[in-house]
Amino acid sequence: MESIKYFDHAATTALDEDVLKEMMPYLTSNYGNASSIYSIGRKAKEAVMLARMRVAASLNCKTNEIYFTSGGTESDNLALKGIAMANSKYGNHIITSKIEHPAILNSCKALENMGFRVTYLNVDRLGRVDLNELERSINRNTILISIMFANNEIGTIQPIRQIGNIARKYNIIFHTDSVQAVGNLNINVNDLKIDALSMSGHKFYGPKGVGALYVRENINFNRVMDGGHQEKDKRSGTENTAGIVGLGKAIENATKNLISYNENLKALSNFYITEVSKRITNIRINGDMDNKLSGNNNICFAGVDGSKLLYELDKRGICASSGSACSAGLINPSHVLLAIGVSSNLARGSLRVTFGKENTIEDVKYLVDSLEEVVNKIRH
Ligand SMILES: *Cc1c(COP(=O)(O)O)cnc(C)c1O
Repeated sequence: MESIKYFDHAATTALDEDVLKEMMPYLTSNYGNASSIYSIGRKAKEAVMLARMRVAASLNCKTNEIYFTSGGTESDNLALKGIAMANSKYGNHIITSKIEHPAILNSCKALENMGFRVTYLNVDRLGRVDLNELERSINRNTILISIMFANNEIGTIQPIRQIGNIARKYNIIFHTDSVQAVGNLNINVNDLKIDALSMSGHKFYGPKGVGALYVRENINFNRVMDGGHQEKDKRSGTENTAGIVGLGKAIENATKNLISYNENLKALSNFYITEVSKRITNIRINGDMDNKLSGNNNICFAGVDGSKLLYELDKRGICASSGSACSAGLINPSHVLLAIGVSSNLARGSLRVTFGKENTIEDVKYLVDSLEEVVNKIRH
């Protein structure tokens, strides 16, 4: 394979080698079904339990509050639909934000079709929800608040502690899509008064197709998948043993290395932003520079078409993202960028660069050199 420079860690990450190593036995010799009573079944069950303990330790919750799923999308669906359905006798109103991931926004749309009412909160120009607007939106029918921990396109971190306090004050369930935050930030669900939280293995150097949902133990939620009663009957289906083992190992690794990991990413991001600002004119830097994911950098280049930009970067071996929904070569301006006040024209020239642990300053120098050349080429 030709050498590639990978700067799209918000889209997915490479599996860690020691994670793969722990997964391997459950893909080969130890293939037992975790529900079976003979030895290789019991071993699979023990491995799932160890992973559950690792996830619970990382969030500071109990093991019986963790449910394994097929990924972030399923965790979001299970949280929103499951909690809304089980609590509909108390009300039919849900509050979320305009900049959520499609897994949340489209779950909300589905719930609206079933008769639920959804308020989509605005965000300011840095991408933060307004706590006053949140509090004003609450009414006696409000049963659920779902606000993402950190945004996947611009990296902005929400005031989660304050949102947790507001939710608790009004006795409303608080869910947070933390798919971008887990592995990047220290999260203590008790301290932050989080009642439900979604994560996904492949966003923190674990495998794809496995996720987890935390739900506080006194909170009622309905299953979405009917079947053989696995995961305390909340998520039926034979456990993805290898995937679950991988997620457990990956979250343990991430939790251990959080500080140095963030320091590295911050240095790369500072260098990138400083160099691009110096060398390329007519740009807009998106997101909350004082409170964002360390590796997430989103910049709009005026007069540049994002899809052309990605194509030219790809020719130079660079993987990055436009941060916009791109279908059939047509770039729709991102709903997140529009929500923070970027014009649709400028939004079409956005580039999301997300750094990860294998990136070096040399890589970023190559990226900035390439970017300067490509932006000039497209503009002229
Ligand atoms: C990636 C992502 C998801 C979806 O997770 P999958 O495991 O890919 O289904 C949901 N929310 C956010 C914020 C994400 O970044």
